[in-house]
Amino acid sequence: MEPLRGTKDILPEEIRYWQKIYEIVTKILTQNNYHEIRTPIIENTELFLRSIGSFTDIINKEMYTFHDQSSRSITLRPEGTASITRSFISNKLYLGNKIQRLWYLGPMFRYERPQKGRQRQFHQLGIECIGSPMPIAEIEVIRIALKILEQLNVEKWSLEINSIGNTEERLKYTNDLKSYLNKYRNDLDENSQKRLEDNALRILDSKNKKTQEILNNGPKIKKYLETSSLQHFEIVCNYLNQLNIKYNINDKLIRGLDYYNYTAFEIQTLNQNQQNTICGGGRYDNLIKQLGGPNTPSVGWAIGLERLILNMEQKSLIHKNKKIIYIAHSEISQADMIWEIINLMDIYQLTFELDISNNNLNKQLRKANQLGAKLCFIISNNEITHQYVTVKWLDTSTQQQVPLYQLNNYLKYIKFSLKT
Ligand code: ATP
Ligand code: MG
Repeated sequence: MEPLRGTKDILPEEIRYWQKIYEIVTKILTQNNYHEIRTPIIENTELFLRSIGSFTDIINKEMYTFHDQSSRSITLRPEGTASITRSFISNKLYLGNKIQRLWYLGPMFRYERPQKGRQRQFHQLGIECIGSPMPIAEIEVIRIALKILEQLNVEKWSLEINSIGNTEERLKYTNDLKSYLNKYRNDLDENSQKRLEDNALRILDSKNKKTQEILNNGPKIKKYLETSSLQHFEIVCNYLNQLNIKYNINDKLIRGLDYYNYTAFEIQTLNQNQQNTICGGGRYDNLIKQLGGPNTPSVGWAIGLERLILNMEQKSLIHKNKKIIYIAHSEISQADMIWEIINLMDIYQLTFELDISNNNLNKQLRKANQLGAKLCFIISNNEITHQYVTVKWLDTSTQQQVPLYQLNNYLKYIKFSLKT
């Protein structure tokens, strides 16, 4: 039996990175007063159709959509923002605080060709700063993304940023871009030729050299932006300058989702990976209204966690826990003493493993060594008769007999010496 193509088990060895990420991001986001939210993995298909946009890759070919037993069309969420928006509206979160700072972490599903850093079930961490039209909101979310990368030891990145204007500006630009590119139709790569009709903006994303050359001489979005779009972008850039955050204005950066306006940004790693975008985000002022909520300008981003982990300086982040105390015994029928010891382990919060193998004591000790345990507590007939525990320090092989009534103090001492 194999896992489905494009899906992966996260085994105990690797889960430690995920737990560490969860721990670090919870700390950073809580400090910035962002609140975690968990929405269902399945939603009505309509939610994504109405938000992500008809001519995007996600809607056209990547969704996991099926009919349930009552013939409802259901989709496994391909991204987080649509669901958060739905939740914001259906729970009337807007009745409370006018500004909502939310974050989520969970699996997303897209039917794509699996590659390194590209899966069919993958995970996103995302934040949404809901309710502010101010450029400072962009800076807040970008700053948090960079903080997270910094604390997870992702060092080589570049922040790409662009203004994609409002709907009208983008429409005018798209029309001009289309008529320009039409003149070179036959020189464009195959994929771009297909996109020319229904999603011409995405051609800017093409990795094809020839297509890129043609685009270089074509119309640029900046020319189509009017005062308010330009001003918004200028303020964003000024703040970034003030904060000394390096960025690159990338006039070909167009995100793959329809709901963005004004600011779009990506954080790319400088590693020579194919999948080098680890974070994508932008402003979405109209989405909430478009889905039936009140007019609520917002901005957010999502980080792909598999790609993040590929770029983490992993070794420096996590130390293997070698401070296990192994409990070996030969008389499980007289378990009273074992439970007394385990109670004390709980009190002093020591990590332990009780042998449950039915092997003889020698084999149990070998197991303790294999595990890399620091200490082994040994309990056999003699120990039970005379009410003591044999404690063996495995790295020095020194052995002590600790009377039960002194065990409390001894564990206090162990706790202290394992810390140092
Ligand atoms: P790409 O152009 O690489 O397909 P995208 O524009 O579709 O990315 P977004 O929808 O912006 O990606 O999602 C935000 C982030 O989620 C991406 O930057 C990436 O890190 C991650 N991501 C998206 N799709 C996948 C996937 N299939 N597998 C793993 N990570 C993904
Ligand atoms: Mg994609």
